[in-house]
Amino acid sequence: MTDCLFCRIIAGEIPARKVFEDQHTFAFEDINPQAPTHVLVVPKKHIRGLKEAAVEDADIIGRCHLTAAQLARQRGIEDSYRTVLNVGPGAGQSVFHLHVHLLGGRGLRWPPG
Ligand code: AMP
Ligand code: ZN
Repeated sequence: MTDCLFCRIIAGEIPARKVFEDQHTFAFEDINPQAPTHVLVVPKKHIRGLKEAAVEDADIIGRCHLTAAQLARQRGIEDSYRTVLNVGPGAGQSVFHLHVHLLGGRGLRWPPG
């Protein structure tokens, strides 16, 4: 989608600090990090958000989480990190291309704000 920020990052049209890419997923540093590790893992397929995901998206959403787990292991934070999907503006979703936040490298409180 040409008007989607994350599709344009995946296509290389907008610069980003890429940390991982495979056939299905793409990961890059969040531009406004909320923790020492704050990476966004996105499906290469444009899915507007979890609310709009269909059963055929189950594999790709799972892959995004597995990519996050792999990055957490690489960074040595595998015992203390959080994956988050914000769903809808009320929960803080501001980019409407599904993305998994990987947050870690600091203490994480529960419940989140
Ligand atoms: P959300 O608020 O859950 O939709 O998450 C969107 C995230 O995208 C926020 O954490 C933003 O800081 C991040 N973001 C927005 N624009 C960019 C960009 N150009 N490169 C990297 N991260 C971005
Ligand atoms: Zn998109």
